[in-house]
Amino acid sequence: MSAAGEFDLIRRYFHRPQLQSATPMALGPGDDCALLDVPSGQQLAISADTLVAGVHFLPEMPAAHIAQRCLCANLSDLAAMGAKPAWFTLCLTLPANDETFLQGFSDGLAQVAQRYGISLAGGDTTRGPLSISIQVIGWVPQGHALQRNGAQIGDDIYVSGYLGDAAGGLACLQENVTDTGYLAQRFYAPTPRLELGQWLQDKATAAIDISDGLLQDVGHILQQSRLGASLDVTQLPISQTLATQVPLAEQERLALAGGEDFELCFTMPQSWRAQVQDYSKQQQLPLTRIGQVEALSGLRLWRDGQAEVLPENLGWQHF
Ligand code: ADP
Ligand code: MG
Repeated sequence: MSAAGEFDLIRRYFHRPQLQSATPMALGPGDDCALLDVPSGQQLAISADTLVAGVHFLPEMPAAHIAQRCLCANLSDLAAMGAKPAWFTLCLTLPANDETFLQGFSDGLAQVAQRYGISLAGGDTTRGPLSISIQVIGWVPQGHALQRNGAQIGDDIYVSGYLGDAAGGLACLQENVTDTGYLAQRFYAPTPRLELGQWLQDKATAAIDISDGLLQDVGHILQQSRLGASLDVTQLPISQTLATQVPLAEQERLALAGGEDFELCFTMPQSWRAQVQDYSKQQQLPLTRIGQVEALSGLRLWRDGQAEVLPENLGWQHF
């Protein structure tokens, strides 16, 4: 890309009021660094994810959907810490200066940025095989972030929303990449549970967002908390759409190991049950109790009082 082309591209598609106005910046993009003021008493929460065409999204997907998915997946990490989104950076590698792609990508990004209140502070733009790296920056009151290591024996284990929809949606998109049905949307525009994460501060003992699959991600909480758990497969929250579109065994497989739902899984003392129910009702967001933390290490699955064999594949791993 010529320098003029590169800077013009950045200005046109990434320095737009829709991308810069959600959270104020002392100095936005355009200089060597952005300058960001952190409110006093808050800690920065920072997380980055790279999404590679063909691995994390279908390269033929509409550009707006690719952008939505990338930013939502990153926002989900902030949600899992109980952090409030503030800024993000975008490192974009593009095969070509493709106007249709860039406009769609920029519009999809702007839509999510406005919706969840996050501003694009800067980034980098290079030529090469399509890959998207986003770093999100949020803040959380000092000492109140939700971590993975605090689960206690006897805590309830909850998940938000429904499980398996995104994996079901990916299957729909593999058939038709422009599918915009409910399941497909759960794949390309997952809902980062930001409000829930902030509500869980000082209530949940541990939390994680489900990116790789429930079993694997619960496993991270248990490992870091040095405990085990039992889960009841009959309690897995399955959406009506998934229930009508795939057979039961497949629903359960997708819910346990499908991943990419970006729902929150959290542990909480049993004394919070009533409040969780009230919050769930008030927010119209299912919060389902699927199991319990135990002293015995490892993860056990139960169905109607009978032990169930763990699936061989617990979730996604790159290597
Ligand atoms: P430098 O050479 O100093 O690293 P660049 O020429 O790469 O700066 O970028 C110029 C400005 O544009 C910087 O402020 C940078 O943060 C911003 N920028 C570059 N690419 C993007 C992008 N994809 N999205 C948002 N801002 C970007
Ligand atoms: Mg510089």
